[in-house]
Amino acid sequence: MRIVLMGPPGAGKGTQAVKIADSLGVPHISTGEIFRANLAAGTPLGLEAKRYMEAGEYVPDEVTNSMVASRLAEADAANGFILDGYPRTLAQVGELDGILSSLGTQLDKVIEITADTDEVVARLLNRAQEQGRADDTEEVIRRRMDVYAEQTEPLVAVYSEKGLLVKVDGMGTMDEVTKRLLATLES
Ligand code: AMP
Repeated sequence: MRIVLMGPPGAGKGTQAVKIADSLGVPHISTGEIFRANLAAGTPLGLEAKRYMEAGEYVPDEVTNSMVASRLAEADAANGFILDGYPRTLAQVGELDGILSSLGTQLDKVIEITADTDEVVARLLNRAQEQGRADDTEEVIRRRMDVYAEQTEPLVAVYSEKGLLVKVDGMGTMDEVTKRLLATLES
């Protein structure tokens, strides 16, 4: 199964991605997590990504694309993956198609976890208090929501036209959402 998981910041995408990756036995590949790990380790990639992440902006496509291309070429991704947080721009959609076709494969499904804006802002502020993520101040959260609406929301229509899109309601408890996702994957 080669799956892309989409959804606005705070929709519970990361948590759900880990659960469905576990249950399918495929790696969970989160571009946000790779950037955060690089930032924590002080690598050149981390330094490059830092200012964008702290402002709630997207890291430039060239940087993100080459990182994803090398991650998807690793052996553990050969039989499937859950891609979380990529693609996020139209240019990244084209790039992902190219990466996968050069690996002789393609996506099976794109799942959009839908969520209510007020609810997700509340969730993110809560997470900011609990985890202290640098990109979780209220101002940055609002910017991230805007950037999602402007740059990533249009991808939903693109994947819908390709016949790959499935929408899953992200409201309710974590377990309820996981059940919906697994049901979608089995159908
Ligand atoms: P996430 O954990 O997926 O919300 O990602 C955290 C941050 O990492 C985002 O706000 C962006 O700054 C950056 N990032 C993650 N994935 C991408 C991507 N596909 N394109 C550009 N920037 C990204």
